[in-house]
Amino acid sequence: MTDQLVERLEIVRERIDAARARGAGQKVQLIAVSKNHAVEKLQTLYDAGVRAFGESYVQEWQAKRKELPDDVEWHFIGALQSNKAKYLVGRAALIHSLDRKSLMKAVQKRAEAPVAMLVQVNLGKEAAKSGIGLEELEEFLLRTEAYPKVSVRGLMGVVPYAENPEENRPYFRSLAQKAGELREKFAGSHPALAESLKELSMGMSDDFEIAIEEGATMVRLGTILFGERKYDE
Ligand SMILES: *Cc1c(COP(=O)(O)O)cnc(C)c1O
Repeated sequence: MTDQLVERLEIVRERIDAARARGAGQKVQLIAVSKNHAVEKLQTLYDAGVRAFGESYVQEWQAKRKELPDDVEWHFIGALQSNKAKYLVGRAALIHSLDRKSLMKAVQKRAEAPVAMLVQVNLGKEAAKSGIGLEELEEFLLRTEAYPKVSVRGLMGVVPYAENPEENRPYFRSLAQKAGELREKFAGSHPALAESLKELSMGMSDDFEIAIEEGATMVRLGTILFGERKYDE
């Protein structure tokens, strides 16, 4: 099991590098999405050099956090209830799921220092997924300025499941393009906001190479590293 995990990690790292070379050569951070996987597996990846882990459920993450070394960089990638924000501030390195004003408020109220967050964009406008629409992004970003404890670092994109991952390329492209447009648009009038649009968290196990070719700076990989998640354990 250990060997297999590390082998998969090596393969994934190679594939990330190859995709970067086909893209713009940007830096790409691998986030190992460890939800529903046992702490031993996280430790194995940690020992192989992985430091960034992504979790989706506050309780599960709290339990795992205690079992792993302090220098793990935790990324919260799940839907976040406003009343749970207090557990994350000061502990999560990056929250990928800022998707509504009430969460900005909750963070503002609870945080002592600015909290790094990505604005989640629902690129396929799927009802079952959260995230704002691309066309709402400009206004949403401007709103964050009223909440100094919300430190926007970029955008996180969710896309529909696709039989052929190529189908999602236009979504990734549109998110990267929008980020570029807004950076330019905000440069004069809202320079801090323009500067804040650095990270693009997009791409999962099935489509991360396409996302990287289109400009992703972070990929969120679960299944391709850990194997299938078993929800009935
Ligand atoms: C679970 C999850 C992932 C990882 O998905 P895989 O297909 O297993 O790589 C990525 N992003 C989010 C938001 C997730 O909830």
